[in-house]
Amino acid sequence: SLTIGIVGLPNVGKSTLFNALTKNDVLAANYPFATIEPNVGVVGVPDARLTKLAEIFGSQRILPATVDFVDIAGIVRGASEGEGLGNKFLANIRESDAICQVIRAFKDENVVHVDGKVSPKDDIETINTELILADLQTIEKVLPRLQKESRIKKDIAPKVAAVEAAKEILEKGDTLFSAGIVQGSGNEELLHDLHLLTTKPFLYVFNVDEDELVDETFKDEQRALVAPAEAIFLNAKLEQDLAELDEADAMELLESVGAEEPGLATLARVGFDTLGLQTYLTAGPKESRAWTIKKGATAPEAAGVIHTDFQKGFIKAEVISFADLVETGSVAEARAKGKARMEGKEYVMQDGDVVEFRFNV
Ligand code: GDP
Repeated sequence: SLTIGIVGLPNVGKSTLFNALTKNDVLAANYPFATIEPNVGVVGVPDARLTKLAEIFGSQRILPATVDFVDIAGIVRGASEGEGLGNKFLANIRESDAICQVIRAFKDENVVHVDGKVSPKDDIETINTELILADLQTIEKVLPRLQKESRIKKDIAPKVAAVEAAKEILEKGDTLFSAGIVQGSGNEELLHDLHLLTTKPFLYVFNVDEDELVDETFKDEQRALVAPAEAIFLNAKLEQDLAELDEADAMELLESVGAEEPGLATLARVGFDTLGLQTYLTAGPKESRAWTIKKGATAPEAAGVIHTDFQKGFIKAEVISFADLVETGSVAEARAKGKARMEGKEYVMQDGDVVEFRFNV
């Protein structure tokens, strides 16, 4: 499955956040047979639609989609110089499908900042500089050879141009992601075999003081620093406390700080979206469940997530939109009102589709 690597300077609250991530019990409760690595935190993507479906179908349990966060240990500054920990750090980032930077905004004299002052802008620059330098090194290793080759092999000219353009962006101090060159998008294809770090989608977690959680001016300033990446604001210590409370107590604590949902819930949702994922839903008396697919997946591909045989033997999918199902109140009623659609092999799954697959075994 796809993973999000968590990185950040020392003492910004990564471990605290990661503890909260691993303490949430979505896995223990719902996926008892899953094995988890010690440095992986699995978080459920909250989805109120599942609760509603469970009501309609009388489901015994709810299985949300999940996102995997990987704690990428290791120093950041000097990582691109490629020594020991630095190398491992970059290799771990290379294996992640998205990069989540934890940025310290909380002020606390008892917690030392490595650079002596709390400055989100400087910290973001420090981390991005290492990633940018690592990408420049990769490019400098391959570009001279590519340029030479292109004198004979004219067809690689577009690739050389793409690598040169990427180099220019990086030399200006920008990440390729911020310039719109993102893994999986069309304009990254020619660079894909270079495995550049800054083409991965970025998201930012600002570890803020409690009063900043509701300070819209402050939050807008931070958002401006990281756009087009998404920014999430949470207090890691509060998240750790929330993870240990039952739902009612957690809600009370959240209300007391003026927050609507735990930061981890927001992080899971935004992380899921940043990875280019979406869900479709299935429901029955046993369970209401969200299944994870890539945005743009077709009906047979979606069926394959449940079982490879479902994909191989795919005949069609009976699809009811969540809204129609809620409005009609049951599958039978939705069918009677013409709200159940039979979709074939070409159908591209839409967010909120409630599906039953027909297949040959
Ligand atoms: P890491 O080095 O990035 O993993 O940081 P840690 O999670 O170990 O946190 C470093 C220190 O900052 C610890 O003493 C934490 O208790 C403290 N800390 C973490 N998050 C917060 C926060 O939101 N507010 C305050 N005041 N302290 C925090």
